[in-house]
Amino acid sequence: MSKLYINGRWSASETGREFNSYNPANGSLLDSVADGNREDTANAIHAAEEAFKKWSVVPAIQRSDYLMACYDSMIKNQDLLAEMITREQGKPLKEAINEVGYAASFFRWYAEEARRIYGETLPSNAADKRIVISRQPVGVVAAITPWNFPLAMITRKIAPALAAGCTVVVKPAEQTPLNAVTLFKVLEECNLPPGVINLITTSQPRDVGEELLHNPAVKKITFTGSTDVGKYLTKEASNQMKRVSMELGGHAPFIVFDDADIEDAVNGVIASKFRNAGQTCVCANRIYVQESIMDEFISLFAEKVNAFSVGEGFKSEVDIGPLIDKDAIQKSKNHIEDALNKGAKLITGGKQINGEGNFFEPTILLDVAEDMYICQEETFGPVAPILTFKTENEVIERANNVPYGLAAYFYTNDYSRSIRVSEKLEYGIIGLNDAIPAVAQAPFGGMKESGVGREGGKEGLLDFLETKYISMKFKNECEQ
Ligand code: NAP
Repeated sequence: MSKLYINGRWSASETGREFNSYNPANGSLLDSVADGNREDTANAIHAAEEAFKKWSVVPAIQRSDYLMACYDSMIKNQDLLAEMITREQGKPLKEAINEVGYAASFFRWYAEEARRIYGETLPSNAADKRIVISRQPVGVVAAITPWNFPLAMITRKIAPALAAGCTVVVKPAEQTPLNAVTLFKVLEECNLPPGVINLITTSQPRDVGEELLHNPAVKKITFTGSTDVGKYLTKEASNQMKRVSMELGGHAPFIVFDDADIEDAVNGVIASKFRNAGQTCVCANRIYVQESIMDEFISLFAEKVNAFSVGEGFKSEVDIGPLIDKDAIQKSKNHIEDALNKGAKLITGGKQINGEGNFFEPTILLDVAEDMYICQEETFGPVAPILTFKTENEVIERANNVPYGLAAYFYTNDYSRSIRVSEKLEYGIIGLNDAIPAVAQAPFGGMKESGVGREGGKEGLLDFLETKYISMKFKNECEQ
């Protein structure tokens, strides 16, 4: 059985309860995991609160060394970590290796940034005053993460938090607890002081969440997950005015203009839509193709999608792994059924693949319209809905007409259009002829109901820091 990690020690939960983690490719049991409850969470918060007293004053250069050690340890253990991603989350091993690299890159970037948490001095209004601005860590941070990037969504929070001088209690998703446990085992090699990072695996998210939200020692909630849960956490966190960072759902438009390199655009849609079997917050959810190039686009797109191999992620030829669970399969089915009932055409795919695992055929739908569910909710599955458009102004209006604002993509070779469209799209992340824009040094995050705050970049560090100003009055005349 895998255990909780509290104050530098592995322990069972206070109740002794466990829950199971399964492989989505074949339904097999992977291991049982300690089922943390409210009391365990309070213990972890207490450990983090005690550790904060020392960690927050460790010199930046030493915190930087710890973070570099975390990066090195993840890279050294890349295969172990990647295999656990494929086993528990399902994505193909080559994608899992990429995730490990991406996840580790946050430690490297924030190891460098930890040394650049600078203050400022401001001109004062009086000759005998000085104003100094300094940055201080917010305190104990609660990090709640999803299953779709079971390592990267944790390190994207832990790394800036530790760089800032905060301590952390992590609550990972119920479907991928073993990824979090494996990561913590790898980080244990770096000898972080006890209590600096703590892990509560649980099948009782509400119970654990209540403690994280209501314990006054927790000063910040950083969350990645669905917009509904994000809104609930934000409301509850406001009772104590805890700070929040919310990385929530998206509904990315992917626009292909008639002046684009079509093959490049098709490859981009494939990378965006089918990576992780369509289970990414930034994946293309509405693919807008300009009318005059539709036939050419569709025939090339369908040819490439029909060549995909779907299966268990450890097989080297596999491009698309299983969906995370039966609910995910059902959601893809519902979206397809609704779209077909409302007039969409099925170009390829459309069905669950029979067998033990949660496999679904890569699917293309044509003649999709905005009144279909697929254009309003995230599908989180390998279903590509194609819409046509005539003009630039029309497509911008349609692309913006959703409550989400996380990522948007467009392909064009027209220089002026590149500037116009990137400025008008109401999204936090724009991929201009680029389907995979996420990197550690850039501020990742959404507008509108896709969230508040940014992860990555220097902005990602500011979210873990308080700004303080010290107004200093002094005698500016020397007495002798
Ligand atoms: P989710 O259902 O919102 O769950 C996310 C996390 O919140 C899980 O750890 C979950 O625990 C926990 N949780 C649920 N209810 C809670 C409560 N009442 N109190 C405390 N914690 C609670 O989302 P998901 O299905 O795991 O992930 C998919 C969603 O994440 C999609 O909407 C996707 O777009 C979004 N996402 C966004 C980003 C981004 O950067 N913007 C990145 C990745 C994913 P359990 O697992 O135990 O339910």
